[in-house]
Amino acid sequence: MINFQYARAGDAADAVQQIAADPRAKFIAGGTNLIDLMKEEVERPTRLIDITRLPLRSVEETAEGGVRIGALVPNSDLAYHPLIERRYPILASAILAGASAQLRNMASTGGNLLQRTRCYYFYDTATPCNKREPGSGCSALTGLNRMHAILGTSEACIATHPSDMCVALAALDATVHVVGPVGARTIAFSDFHRLPGDTPQRDTNLEPHELVTAVELPARGFAVNYTYLKIRDRLSYAFALVSVAAALELDGNRIGEARLALGGVAHKPWRDLAAEAALRGQPTTEATFAQAADLVLRDAKGFEHNAFKIDLARCAIIRALTQAAAGTPQSQSDKKIR
Ligand SMILES: Cc1cc2nc3c(=O)[nH]c(=O)nc-3n(C[C@H](O)[C@H](O)[C@H](O)COP(=O)(O)OP(=O)(O)OC[C@H]3O[C@@H](n4cnc5c(N)ncnc54)[C@H](O)[C@@H]3O)c2cc1C
Ligand code: SF4
Repeated sequence: MINFQYARAGDAADAVQQIAADPRAKFIAGGTNLIDLMKEEVERPTRLIDITRLPLRSVEETAEGGVRIGALVPNSDLAYHPLIERRYPILASAILAGASAQLRNMASTGGNLLQRTRCYYFYDTATPCNKREPGSGCSALTGLNRMHAILGTSEACIATHPSDMCVALAALDATVHVVGPVGARTIAFSDFHRLPGDTPQRDTNLEPHELVTAVELPARGFAVNYTYLKIRDRLSYAFALVSVAAALELDGNRIGEARLALGGVAHKPWRDLAAEAALRGQPTTEATFAQAADLVLRDAKGFEHNAFKIDLARCAIIRALTQAAAGTPQSQSDKKIR
């Protein structure tokens, strides 16, 4: 473990001021990702700015009919919050599909957005990795790439974003509130995470000195016809090979509104507006869902060990949409575990 300084932030302005004063400082919230990365010497901050005492732990209804979630709301509190369970159950399902009960108790909303990829080579400092060390190469391109991306990849990086919660937030069209040295701003969820391009070291469009303060959900919650389907190697405590957040509003057996986002397949939660448009106005049939799946996967590209993900994603999209249409969400098997 490297040596580092520790400081506690008094309020959001103080947190931003402290991080702006030290380019190698990092915020720490639950620490469930950052501390692991520090132990592996992937992250080497000179200073940790503890933000856990900031007043960012509330879940409140907004004047626009949506919900504002403080950046420090623990993942478990969010999943079991009555407003989320009742109005945004797809978000509760996605959170409960991730990690373990203990980790969800520690993990924060802001930290979940900013968790880093689980690419094995990113964690292994003995191997080249453009995300960890820009310009060193990508070991996954010709190495073990079973967990890796099939959409939006670049020659520099084929990593995936590991979050489950973020897939639901993408489908729900959330907004991220941030504050930095020049003030506060909002970032549409679809613009928050980045594709790797030739700068895979940047996961998000958050500026280095900005603090995430909240995530806001719009009023539309898709509380009746939704599914978060996570396909993984083990039934719990494993990252997604492919996951699908599917949310529909139905008018009889026709689709009024549709949302479709995938996890485990790209460097960011993958939402496809063309596929959603193709679903609107269509009957809730397998043919409709298969057409949407083909649209999502039209540019999918597999590598040596992960080409199976293309078929897997196709089946998962069809199954998730079928379950959403039938109003039978994926089982929330660990819902009772707190
Ligand atoms: C064994 C294991 C299994 C897991 N399985 C899953 C899974 O299946 N699905 C899943 O989705 N996740 C999974 N996770 C990841 C877990 O959800 C994340 O580690 C967690 O959400 C990170 O939140 P945190 O508060 O602990 O972040 P931290 O570790 O404290 O921080 C992570 C990063 O975010 C930054 N940060 C934190 N808060 C803010 C803020 N407000 N503003 C700006 N920057 C901030 C930190 O500087 C750091 O860079 C797993 C983790 C582990 C260890
Ligand atoms: S896929 Fe990305 S994170 Fe993994 S080795 Fe390549 S550059 Fe690094």
